[in-house]
Amino acid sequence: MPNKIGGPRVLLRQLRQTLAEPLASQERLDKIVDLIAKNMRADVCSFYVLRDDNALELFATCGLKREAVHNTSLRLGEGLVGVIAAEAKALNLADASTHPSFSYKPETGEDRFHAFLGVPVLRSGQMLGVLVVQNADIRAYSEDETEGMLTTATILAEMLSASEFDALVKPGSDINLRKPRTIRAIGFSEGIAIGQVVLHDPRVVVTNFIADDIDEEIKKLDKALRSMRVSIDDMFSHNDMQISSEHREILESYRMFANDRGWVRRIREAIENGLTAEAAVERVQNDTRAKMMRQSDAYIRDRLHDLDDLANRLLRTLTGNGIASKTNELPKNAIIVARTMGPAELLEYDRSKLGAIVLEEGAATAHVAIVARSLGIVAIGGADPCVSICENGDEIIVDGKLGIVHLRPNADVKSAYIDKQKLSSERLAQYAKLRDKPAITKDGIEINLLQNSGLLSDMKSLDETGAKGIGLFRTELQFMIASKLPRIGEQVELYSKAIKAAGDREITFRLLDIGGDKVVPYMRSAVEENPAMGWRSLRLALARPGLLKTQIRALLKAANGGRLKILVPMVTQTDEFCQTKEMVNKEIARLSRMGEKTPSKVELGAMIEVPSILFELDILLPKVDFISIGSNDLVQFLTATDRANPRVAGNYDAISLPRLRALRHIVREAKKHKVPLTMCGELASNPLEALALMAIGMTSLSMGGSSVGPIKEMVLSIELKPIKKIIKKALKNGSNAGSIRQILTNYVQSQNLSL
Ligand code: PEP
Ligand code: MG
Repeated sequence: MPNKIGGPRVLLRQLRQTLAEPLASQERLDKIVDLIAKNMRADVCSFYVLRDDNALELFATCGLKREAVHNTSLRLGEGLVGVIAAEAKALNLADASTHPSFSYKPETGEDRFHAFLGVPVLRSGQMLGVLVVQNADIRAYSEDETEGMLTTATILAEMLSASEFDALVKPGSDINLRKPRTIRAIGFSEGIAIGQVVLHDPRVVVTNFIADDIDEEIKKLDKALRSMRVSIDDMFSHNDMQISSEHREILESYRMFANDRGWVRRIREAIENGLTAEAAVERVQNDTRAKMMRQSDAYIRDRLHDLDDLANRLLRTLTGNGIASKTNELPKNAIIVARTMGPAELLEYDRSKLGAIVLEEGAATAHVAIVARSLGIVAIGGADPCVSICENGDEIIVDGKLGIVHLRPNADVKSAYIDKQKLSSERLAQYAKLRDKPAITKDGIEINLLQNSGLLSDMKSLDETGAKGIGLFRTELQFMIASKLPRIGEQVELYSKAIKAAGDREITFRLLDIGGDKVVPYMRSAVEENPAMGWRSLRLALARPGLLKTQIRALLKAANGGRLKILVPMVTQTDEFCQTKEMVNKEIARLSRMGEKTPSKVELGAMIEVPSILFELDILLPKVDFISIGSNDLVQFLTATDRANPRVAGNYDAISLPRLRALRHIVREAKKHKVPLTMCGELASNPLEALALMAIGMTSLSMGGSSVGPIKEMVLSIELKPIKKIIKKALKNGSNAGSIRQILTNYVQSQNLSL
């Protein structure tokens, strides 16, 4: 086995010098492959670059025919080089010609060479190209040599600027490094946003790659690892992690990886090969990202994501930079890109500068999506692998309706979207014109259109949308964004302002609905296996009557002698509603005993969002003043699919037969008992779904502010009676009727309506 000259440390130093020299791009690449070949005692060193058209072009070589440079290329997956690029995996072969993927390119003259070691050249998880060494004899390269090559490849990728390549690419082709990418995902909140990427958890950019003192770097790593392990232990004992088992699972994997000997060993080896501690972490992280790209198993992919997050934490500790974006100054039209985010985190951003959010995870009914919708922020979920392929400052377009992200868009796409954005502002202007028109169908059925809210900032839009009022004010949002439990005075202030903003329009305050994914960081709670079905919402409120009493008191005070509508969430059985009613009545009596103003009228309603209550509506309804259906939770529990889990949340159509029959049952019972009914779940936000609800007799719908215009337009354009007939028949005929969605779509198309 030939000896290496000086090993990777010497090579890295030589590379650093070469990269600092004022050389032309081709000359520099030629010098680099020469240095690598010499250092590795290889007969050949070649550098292939992945172009935009997925061809791997030979950019530089020492040992193969020079004429082949820029004239030879392989397709992704073709030949050994193509396989390395396709799988982002090193190949170490004693005799390359015996490998089934070997593909001989006569113009290169590589038939004389047998031993082959090729490694992917990756930058932030993106495939940039392939670095290869070859020898004439049949021999296996050692593990150290493979490691050295991988280290060299990392440095090359990080150090060579895109302009270095741009100078060499042929017109019409481009390199892969910063190419435009389109990611198809799920639209959470409609609209078009054009802006620049702000990573929620920014990746640390490593600038210092080559170690001057290896021992010092190892010490630095050990210190950073120690402090990271302590901070993970701290997080475990910290209150806010107690509430969510999902967070706990992530922490468990952090802890596992932080103590994983293999991971730490690989980082140490990279340092021993001459990298600084931060470059070594980056180098190992690159491998993880490459594995992530290859992985189809969702569980393993999640764990690799966790490892990526952990490496990022370690990088931050090592470099002391890369603080979370929200604390930094946001650019105008910031598009926040995150793996996942809670609603409270979203609310920490400066709304005036926020263009959109792009999440790799999440489902449309997750609370962060709901908050985004209610604030009118364009949002997209399921945009994997957005985080690893974009960088702060990248240009990005988010199409919330189609659920598409265009990263680093080319000029054509951008100009098309600028036009589209103009059109959508024209549509908005069109909706604005409908603002004062009553929402009445062509055949005279009036629909009460209300808006969901939870913050004062989104109440402002009430005047613009022309909604009749607030059908659902999610009071928990105030609790979620606060750093400590809001005092009664703060609650009174918020509710009073909300009532004032509503003016003479109705407003329905929902009592605290916390728990599940609505994390209130300062409240201690036991770890639960299934938080969505756990100690949450009304259950929690009744068990902590102090909290509930304070809120009821605050609402009664805020009403200031006027009318008050209170909605009780997650009523699972009637007696829970009765207990709440008793508390409300006691608080009213207390107020009047104290000689304070009591509301002129208090209406108390129940949310219908737990299936069991559907079977005692006859008992519940005589006791309530109104009901409101929470379709997000109701559909989640009817179908046993976690609304926050993107893998299942969209599996069942909410307007297909069994769900629509359940909803119709509620409508019929409400009618029978003369109880006013509103739908306040997200189902009311989409024109086709809202039409299905109207078809089964619902006439009051509450939705995110941005949906009021499109829903009103739909209401004004349809004749409801024929649709009611069609849906009635479909619900009666059961499975023979086909999909309700299809039936509605067909009808709408036959009438030339576009919903
Ligand atoms: C619902 O469950 O449909 C609902 C309106 O409440 P939330 O989404 O806040 O749980
Ligand atoms: Mg709910």
